[in-house]
Amino acid sequence: MREAASQTASQTAPHTASRPTLRFDGRALDYAELAGAASALAARIEGAGRVALWATPELETCVGAMAALLAGVPAVPLNPRTGGRELAHILADSSPSTVLAAPGVQLPGALATLPVTQIDADARATGPLPPEPAAGSPALIVYTSGTTGPPKGVVIPRRAIAVTLDGLADAWQWTADDVLVHALPLFHVHGLILGVLGPLRRGGGVRHLGRFSPEAVAGELAGGGSMLFGVPTMYHRLAEAVESEAAAGGQRPLAAALAGARLLVSGSAALPVHDQERLARATGRHVIERYGMTETLMNTSVRLDGPQLRPGSVGPPLPGVELRLVDEGDEPLSTPEEEAVGEIQVRGPNLFTAYLNRPDATRAAFAEGGWFRTGDMATRDADGSVRIVGRKATDLIKSGGYKIGAGEIENVLLEHPGVAEAAVTGEPDQDLGERVVAWIVPADAARPPGAAALADHVSAQLSPHKRPRTVRFLRELPRNDMGKIMKRELGA
Ligand code: ATP
Ligand code: MG
Repeated sequence: MREAASQTASQTAPHTASRPTLRFDGRALDYAELAGAASALAARIEGAGRVALWATPELETCVGAMAALLAGVPAVPLNPRTGGRELAHILADSSPSTVLAAPGVQLPGALATLPVTQIDADARATGPLPPEPAAGSPALIVYTSGTTGPPKGVVIPRRAIAVTLDGLADAWQWTADDVLVHALPLFHVHGLILGVLGPLRRGGGVRHLGRFSPEAVAGELAGGGSMLFGVPTMYHRLAEAVESEAAAGGQRPLAAALAGARLLVSGSAALPVHDQERLARATGRHVIERYGMTETLMNTSVRLDGPQLRPGSVGPPLPGVELRLVDEGDEPLSTPEEEAVGEIQVRGPNLFTAYLNRPDATRAAFAEGGWFRTGDMATRDADGSVRIVGRKATDLIKSGGYKIGAGEIENVLLEHPGVAEAAVTGEPDQDLGERVVAWIVPADAARPPGAAALADHVSAQLSPHKRPRTVRFLRELPRNDMGKIMKRELGA
């Protein structure tokens, strides 16, 4: 990133220097302008211990993140939708000395005691850049999504960001000509590190949509965007939209725009196979999946030059990432690994330094030899590609002596025409230990499918022990800001 910024000021090729690099809501900065604004802010915050970043989906948030990186001051991106108590906890935990915010934003009461540093996207620094901080020094403190418990502050060193972005560039053949269509929030790894710092490190562009909609995605992809990074809920909506477009007859602008994109990537949660297949049918394009976490940044990705894409696969480990599957005693699974489910453990320069203020949690997160316990369960194909089964804590159901992955059952339920959304959990059961429970959002609330029909549909496709014993209907599934299903709210 630093290279990107300093490069920009001096030696970027003329065609990229004047090309808008970041465009948010009709406002744009080219590389030279971004470098000038970020350097000016860097000079104002240099020497601060830590800064908070009010991470609205605006140009200013990118300038703030870039300035913190240039100044070597760790930044804590804050979700503007976080409620008072959680925000107060994050502030107490991370103790920033100031909050960087765009002019005119209304900051909530929890931030009242913190001095505000306004981000000026129009400022232009003169003067030299501060010296480059060490690779192991903290760049960002990002709070986890809070899917399985209260969010934890993850200290991310500069090196991890560089390694992840270079690994993804290698896997995706990502270049300075790429323009990312972006509709994700900027306070998590996906939207901020991959979505903003990624294109900047490569010298390409970002077009942020503000709000996701299939129409806006179609417009930006048709208007020069080459890549789309999204979460599974976005691809679900795109799948619905391409199908309605086809059903209506006539022009199909969304299908054409998706078909013309160089790269479609999904991450942050499992992409349902059903949506992957619907999109492939309608557009002839496969969505690539990558797998990562706040603590590890990216671990694996399907590669453009790798084994043929198979739905459900998140690809092989990225360059520099060591990955193993282990049993409950941290023993690596013996080969052949195919079909054998184990916990993913990873090691490499992509890893975080520590959980902020939680030495015990940090210690507990590592097995002997520096292997990080991801808490995710997976199998490995013969060619080294990883297939996520789900989270150990919420997606692995122990029923009648079997270990059942929730994701496989969810994928089958989603194929049923009466099902719009599905989540599978385990509940205590006297006979079985745990019983498979399906939570269903019906496609038509007035005419939900019968519970027995849904259970029969699963039994017809999978083994009998995977049949849901209980089916519950909901109007919507509990999801967080990244669209992840909060299974702990379903009692998992
Ligand atoms: P918390 O740690 O607070 O409970 P979280 O684990 O959801 O929340 P993140 O670090 O944002 O917080 O998410 C990482 C998790 O997301 C991974 O551990 C994994 O379970 C899931 N994940 C990410 N990418 C994929 C993918 N491609 N397929 C399946 N799961 C994925
Ligand atoms: Mg987690």
